[in-house]
Amino acid sequence: MAQAGMRVIVVGGGVIGGAVALALARRGVAVELLERDLVGAGASGAAAGMLAPLSESQAPGPFLPIGLAALREFSPWVDTVEALAGVRLDLLHSGVLMLAAPGEEAALRDRLDWQRQHDPGATFLDGPALARLVPHLAAGPAGALHYPNEVQVDARRYTLALARAAQAAGAHLREGTPATAILQAGGRVTGVATGRERLEADAVVVASGSDGALLRPLGIDLPLVPIKGEMVRLLPAGPLAGPIVFAPGGYIVPKADGTVLVGATQLPGRHDLGVEAGAVATLLGFAQRLVPQLAAARFVDAWAGLRPGLPDRLPAVGPLPPLPGLWAAVGHHRNGILLAGWTGERLAEALLDGRPLPAAVLPSRYLPPAAG
Ligand SMILES: Cc1cc2nc3c(=O)[nH]c(=O)nc-3n(C[C@H](O)[C@H](O)[C@H](O)COP(=O)(O)OP(=O)(O)OC[C@H]3O[C@@H](n4cnc5c(N)ncnc54)[C@H](O)[C@@H]3O)c2cc1C
Repeated sequence: MAQAGMRVIVVGGGVIGGAVALALARRGVAVELLERDLVGAGASGAAAGMLAPLSESQAPGPFLPIGLAALREFSPWVDTVEALAGVRLDLLHSGVLMLAAPGEEAALRDRLDWQRQHDPGATFLDGPALARLVPHLAAGPAGALHYPNEVQVDARRYTLALARAAQAAGAHLREGTPATAILQAGGRVTGVATGRERLEADAVVVASGSDGALLRPLGIDLPLVPIKGEMVRLLPAGPLAGPIVFAPGGYIVPKADGTVLVGATQLPGRHDLGVEAGAVATLLGFAQRLVPQLAAARFVDAWAGLRPGLPDRLPAVGPLPPLPGLWAAVGHHRNGILLAGWTGERLAEALLDGRPLPAAVLPSRYLPPAAG
């Protein structure tokens, strides 16, 4: 639990900063949540909103147990967010299908073998079973993995609700407030400068997404890379309920409001948010080949976001040892919506109670060993 009067500044009003602010504020910490733009302006407002740890795991490794823990904890976490924020988030239990590319069935069955040790609900559907479950899919795929326990939310609404819930728990939100420097004295963090003022704190959590600029002047160079993703939203003439479908070339996500998201490009090292005509054409072609009736859907809009990527595709969550009091919660790549609640809770437990974080996510894996 928080020491009386403890103050923490969280930099970044995305899904991760909002979740960290909420987890700390609920434990009695005096939290300042700083966002240079508006809450949800970064990758979080651009995401498809899938909570899909099995779909996102191509090989065994530390991500899957962390992702599954995040999925297990999501429902009670969302209950808390909804109650505090006073909104409904419409968690959709849609499940996910992963279609086999021609000749890829054996590889998908191998994948199922090790994944079923983590989720016995995962199954392989052959062509006829697939056609029965999703009649709107074009004929062709010989089979698919089915993950019935994977879910989805509206990512933007979730991000806004987290910030609102954090405020309801006592956090102070400042939008339009960029942190311009981390302040230090006596070998530890003392707060941040915002350009207008200096804010004091006992700890600072950097949750600035793909932007590592705040850390670099301190000599902390996490190898963060923006991975641009473009997405298209369509409104089909009739409802297209059913599971999320991953196929070679992308995914389609039928949302609770009747629209369908089609995503997404993956362009490492791109910092711009422009949506290219070629990307839209490719995504639309993909969607129509997968679900022919989408050719008649109305085009609603398209956008881009910058996923915060690290080389091992795991986030960096924990202390930044060069500077006591400085913490990171960045690099959630394709899974920040899934991992936000987990990140907020684990970071708060570590910061306040000294509970160890999984070694696989510690930022120190990217930092040179401390001198001395
Ligand atoms: C197309 C696309 C689809 C995706 N689909 C999914 C999905 O289905 N499921 C999933 O789990 N994940 C998905 N993701 C990934 C997910 O969006 C990210 O992992 C997540 O949003 C990262 O959250 P964040 O809070 O770290 O970053 P961001 O949302 O980028 O938030 C960082 C915030 O920090 C602010 N900031 C930066 N520097 C400063 C500063 N100096 N001072 C103050 N504020 C600052 C920025 O303005 C920004 O608002 C997708 C991403 C994209 C682009």
